[in-house]
Order: sequence, then C-alpha cells, then structure tokens
Amino acid sequence: MSKPIHVVCPHCDSVNRLPAERLGEQPRCGKCRDHLFTARPIELDKVSFAKHISNSDIPILVDFWAPWCGPCKMMAPQFKQAATQLEPRVRLAKVNTEAEQTLGAKYNIRSIPTMALFRGGREIARQPGAMSAADIVRWTNTHAKV
Ligand SMILES: [Zn+2]
Repeated sequence: MSKPIHVVCPHCDSVNRLPAERLGEQPRCGKCRDHLFTARPIELDKVSFAKHISNSDIPILVDFWAPWCGPCKMMAPQFKQAATQLEPRVRLAKVNTEAEQTLGAKYNIRSIPTMALFRGGREIARQPGAMSAADIVRWTNTHAKV
C-alpha cells in the first residue's frame, strides 16, 4: 500500500485523499462524484489557485497566459495535448493573467506565455515562451521527476 495523496477536484475544489495507485483508475471526487482528472487543463482564479497549489500532492503545471497574446493562443492546443500525456501524474492548469492580475503580479510574471511548475505549495521551475506539446512533457518530466 502506498501513502495516500491529496488531489483537489477540478469541479468543486474539494480536497480528496486517495491511494497513489488509484490515480490511474479514473478516480472520482468524493463530494461531487465527477472525475478528478479529465485530461484537460483546468482554469484557475485567485481563490481556486490557492486551494489547488497548497493542497495538491501532485505537481501542478500552470500556463500563465492572456487573451491578447498570439503565442499563448498558439501554445493552447499544445498545452491541452500535453495534459493528455501528463495527467494524472501532474495537474495542468491555466491562469488568465488579464483576469487574474493579482496572481500575475504575485508570481512576478514578466512575459507570457510563462509556464511554472508547483509542488508542495511552492514554485520549483519556470520557463517563459511557447513550447510544443512534446517539449512541455519533456520539460515537466525533467523538473517534476515524475
Ligand atoms: Zn468534486
């Protein structure tokens, strides 16, 4: 038996506790019963961001983007594709820095897109600039060691 890990539900933001080996078995949320992983990046705002970052035992890869940014739009499908390969070992999330300016300021996002990897409530790696899905997966595997 492996140690239970904490995963935050992308639908209701409840903190779920489950054995690590159950991650790959399409686990459902204990509260809202929806899937804990949908193979898609989730959108986070200031409140849900804090909840996910501080309560998740799996690494969270965040794409800081903005609607007016061309390279961000080009990277969006790549990021989405990376989610299908990285979940459920890693949670992928997007933060719209135009709507969530306090988050952009808090993490000192100077250029977009910027990807930042969080684990255990803190940032462990950061990479500015658009990347392909393959590069996103490779970069994440290297830094998250998952
Ligand atoms: Zn839920």
